[in-house]
Amino acid sequence: MPSVETKGISKNFGPVVALENVSISIADGEYAVLLGPSGCGKTTLLKTIAGINKPDAGGVLINGSDVTDLPPEDRGIGFIFQNYALFPHMSVLDNARYGLMARGSDPATAAKIAREMLSLVMLEGREGDLPTTLSGGMQQRLAVSRALATGSHLMLLDEPLSALDAKIASGLRVELRRMVKERGLTAIHVTHSQEEAMMLADKIIVMRAGTVQQVGTPAEVYNNPANLFVAGFIGEPNFILASVKHGKAELLGRNLKAELPDGEYVAMLRQEHVLFGSGVEAKVRSSRLMGPYTHYEVEAAGQVLKVRSREQQAGSVRISFDENKLIFFPYPARGLEAELSI
Ligand code: ATP
Repeated sequence: MPSVETKGISKNFGPVVALENVSISIADGEYAVLLGPSGCGKTTLLKTIAGINKPDAGGVLINGSDVTDLPPEDRGIGFIFQNYALFPHMSVLDNARYGLMARGSDPATAAKIAREMLSLVMLEGREGDLPTTLSGGMQQRLAVSRALATGSHLMLLDEPLSALDAKIASGLRVELRRMVKERGLTAIHVTHSQEEAMMLADKIIVMRAGTVQQVGTPAEVYNNPANLFVAGFIGEPNFILASVKHGKAELLGRNLKAELPDGEYVAMLRQEHVLFGSGVEAKVRSSRLMGPYTHYEVEAAGQVLKVRSREQQAGSVRISFDENKLIFFPYPARGLEAELSI
């Protein structure tokens, strides 16, 4: 039985369509990530699951029960926000046990559980301090401990790492996933960072303009994007124009076998699948050392390609690629730029 299901959720804010007929399903114990550009409706969907927003149409099921008309506090969820939402005048311990006390737990039992959770997020010893004396990463860990302390099986996380610097956020990502997995919780996590989604998720739900574009594992959305938008949003692939006629695709001046109807196409090719060596003639236009690899822009047959390589290259080069890695999409009627943009 899926732990969370939304059935045909629609939500408008005046003229703005925030969600349009959104149906998703998240299994018990799954770490799901809602991924998409700013304004695509991720937070609205999360708040609808939490009960903070009421949908105009559709419903929410948690553990198979319809909770659409239940208030947030009766849905058995833990909520973790971007801005921590801590109480500044309460001690770390009081913040950590707040949710439990609000649910009627006695202070001593609440303190015992809160101390355990604080130790889990490595904040033991700071129980008597005020949250303002903690670093951003520690404040977010405190918010995590408060949500865990409630004993909720469903964690909703709204951009919980985006206020933190990159290194701390990356460490906390690993901890978050570990804690959720160790405790067998179900998590729904909102982010606009594809890297964060790839690192955290069992299941990625890619959204755009209030609609779900694709649902899949990180490998599925990366290797088999459902459409050009998903292809462009996950990673920074090359899009190569191709013309198909009589089972042959003309692409970068080559003719490749392609069992597709005649027409114009855009072929997606990941940067790491372009190799220097024998093949198509090209010219290096720019290169930038990124640390473990160099990022190149090369021009081949009038098209610019991005290449990721550990080799040092300049001037005239040749590039090759495995044609099985090409994914063809029909050239979009409204143009490639419009199709890729939010
Ligand atoms: P971000 O990553 O920027 O937080 P998001 O994908 O979470 O974006 P939402 O916050 O869900 O997007 O917003 C979806 C759309 O609904 C946006 O156009 C937003 O302006 C609009 N919207 C959201 N909440 C409200 C509100 N309370 N009143 C009016 N419009 C709203």
